[in-house]
Amino acid sequence: MPSYLEQKFGLHGRVALVTGSSQGLGQAMARALAQAGADVIVNGRDPAKLAPVVAELAALGAKATPIAADLGNRADVQQLIDQAVGWQGHLDILVNNAGIIKRAPAADHSDADWDLVLRVNLDGVFTACRAAGRHMIARGSGKIINIASLLTFFGGVTVPGYAASKGAVGQLTKALSNEWAGKGVNVNAIAPGYMRTDNTAALQADPMRSTEILSRIPANRWGEPGDLEGAVVFLASRASDYLSGHVMAVDGGWCGR
Ligand code: NAP
Repeated sequence: MPSYLEQKFGLHGRVALVTGSSQGLGQAMARALAQAGADVIVNGRDPAKLAPVVAELAALGAKATPIAADLGNRADVQQLIDQAVGWQGHLDILVNNAGIIKRAPAADHSDADWDLVLRVNLDGVFTACRAAGRHMIARGSGKIINIASLLTFFGGVTVPGYAASKGAVGQLTKALSNEWAGKGVNVNAIAPGYMRTDNTAALQADPMRSTEILSRIPANRWGEPGDLEGAVVFLASRASDYLSGHVMAVDGGWCGR
């Protein structure tokens, strides 16, 4: 008889796809899902970066496979979901994590940067949700976890495209929840706080911004990728079956300040 924790939080027999899991937050979430028992598909654009992550998950005893795809290309996204479903015949967990940021004052923000950020962070997320959602609705179960941001709630500084995309990810999460919660598919989001990854390298390197950010974090430290482990396993597991359309901030208390 599986333990209470295994019944509620265990992911054995589940297949998870984490987009953008070659490094950073996606890699940490892929590792956490694997440690909770899931078989994991690792994604990013560069196949060479996926191989070591797959090896790391395999060393933990998990089944893992790489699928390279560009989330900024709708045809690639559809193919990614088709291949993910084809791997074991089903897809139970989709973590829409791949995301990019382009920093420039709004008055100088180029069309190219705006379009690219919206394409990856929003169009890619909707296309993946729609393709995976069709499959999950047909099976009557599934967990979709979108990676939002504190800029889902706040406007940020010199990242207008990023803020617009992440605000939209929050609304998309609620819109899909409204349609799919009654069909056995939970759609939720995680809004990470300021985490130490390549995405925030420019902020970490700027002594003024870095100090300003740290001074507002009640936990008194920047987040580390591993800080998302509990939230992603919870949202992927049966323990969160009645949680839907929620954007969960994992931010060391930033939003409460
Ligand atoms: P990161 O270290 O830059 O990693 C981004 C990942 O996404 C990489 O694996 C990258 O792999 C992949 N990626 C980028 N563009 C892609 C594309 N077009 N198609 C497929 N994969 C792509 O960033 P991170 O900090 O881990 O961020 C992960 C997510 O969390 C993003 O959505 C970000 O907006 C969000 N977030 C981060 C923070 C933070 O403080 N770090 C805070 C809030 C939200 P390849 O380059 O190999 O394709």
